[in-house]
Amino acid sequence: MKFSSLLVTGALTCAAIAPARAATLKVWPANPQPGDVLTVTVYPAAGETIEGVGMAAFDTDAIKFYGRDGGVVRGFVGFPFDRQAGLFPLRARVMVNGKEQILSASVTARKRYFPTQRITMSNKGTASKMHATDKLRAEKVYVQSKMKDSYAAPLWSGNWLMPVSGSSSSGYGRKRYVNGKWWGQHNGSDIKAPTGRTVIASNSGRVAMSAYLPALRGNCVVIDHGCNVYSIYMHLSERAVSEGDSVGKGQKIGEVGATGFVTGPHLHFETRIGWEPVDPMKVVSGGIKF
Ligand SMILES: [Zn+2]
Repeated sequence: MKFSSLLVTGALTCAAIAPARAATLKVWPANPQPGDVLTVTVYPAAGETIEGVGMAAFDTDAIKFYGRDGGVVRGFVGFPFDRQAGLFPLRARVMVNGKEQILSASVTARKRYFPTQRITMSNKGTASKMHATDKLRAEKVYVQSKMKDSYAAPLWSGNWLMPVSGSSSSGYGRKRYVNGKWWGQHNGSDIKAPTGRTVIASNSGRVAMSAYLPALRGNCVVIDHGCNVYSIYMHLSERAVSEGDSVGKGQKIGEVGATGFVTGPHLHFETRIGWEPVDPMKVVSGGIKF
């Protein structure tokens, strides 16, 4: 009892000596689910200038922030698919007029259920790819190296398009076992479609990577949409764009295929905030607002 009352006294003392004016940290939505994009915004107090923000949250070491009108800074962070419901306190270190301020906020996450999927890879050549851990790691490092320098302003606009027509065959977040071995949760959404069907850019951006990566992704295109928002398209039979190209929303970027680690032709479609995969169907249905 004594300890907790000391804590309360301490908190009151801190509040009493806190500066009258301070920046404000806001995180939206207040009740996210795993797979959601969280919008993190720092509003300066009147007459103050935000010079820098340092913030880690969930699995993201350093949220990237970008300037908006009025000295406001905003960034995005993905809420990982393996988190449970509950309270998540969040803190940011903010430099204001040469002084550090510690800002707090919190979100109360809601539970999201993800089904379990058991996949059988009967083809020996394909199945052996799941044990090629060195190749898988090298591929991941290569893709990550192309996703470090997102454009510092939104390149996307408005709603996000489904990149191909077809039925959803496996949703984001599914807990997957391949030939009985834990394979991880599904980073994207699979859309079943025949080889050769046109795949379009879900939104406008710049091609951060266009490469053939045989261990897992096959022919793969990564689009940088700015502000650390990316979309990824895998297993293509053909790639129609090159690294550095600007792409418009709805522009053809490739064709559906069955390259890489697959059981058959489909598009594996991802959306990520930095390296954190978020639910692409929620991006398509709800958008991302800067
Ligand atoms: Zn997939």
